[in-house]
Amino acid sequence: MNHYPKPILKLINSLSKLPGIGKNTAERLALHILHAPNHEAVTLAGNIIELKKNIQICSVCFALSDNDKCRICTDPQRDQTSICVVENPADMAAIEKSNAFFGTYHILGGALSPIDGIGPDDIRIQELFKRAGLGTIKEIILATKTNVEGEATASYILEKLKTTKVKLTRIASGIPMGGDLQYIDPLTMQKAMEKRFNA
Ligand SMILES: [Zn+2]
Repeated sequence: MNHYPKPILKLINSLSKLPGIGKNTAERLALHILHAPNHEAVTLAGNIIELKKNIQICSVCFALSDNDKCRICTDPQRDQTSICVVENPADMAAIEKSNAFFGTYHILGGALSPIDGIGPDDIRIQELFKRAGLGTIKEIILATKTNVEGEATASYILEKLKTTKVKLTRIASGIPMGGDLQYIDPLTMQKAMEKRFNA
């Protein structure tokens, strides 16, 4: 591969750092970009720069956003009285794909894990409690992962919120133990959301 001119080698090197992209695929992609029309390559480069420059975190739910508040938090069509609590943006994306939930989200940014030294102050749990205490929230749906950390996080939140008037629910089974929400097909997710139960 070293026979390539330096700019091609540099691109192969960058592309091979992407998840799931080995050296051979990176080489194929780099050559594809090289032979693509100029505007396509420029658009690709521009999109990457724009992504890094313009994506921020929603000040309400902590989802990825191109504004201070994300599209879901500002959408009057979404039920702003309901919050689905997830660990990360990928889990939120999995629920969105199921088309079974029309409320808002709260992205914790991880899960409680005493073994790894991750406590309540290391994820956005206080921010959730603050939202829960606003008086406008009617339901909080816990959709943390089904592994030990996800369960611990859900239990902690339930314990802290059990004296509030907010209805607390959890998405139903069908989500395999230890399962990562992002690998669940939309239909299973839809069923899990529809069959959510009182926690
Ligand atoms: Zn938001």
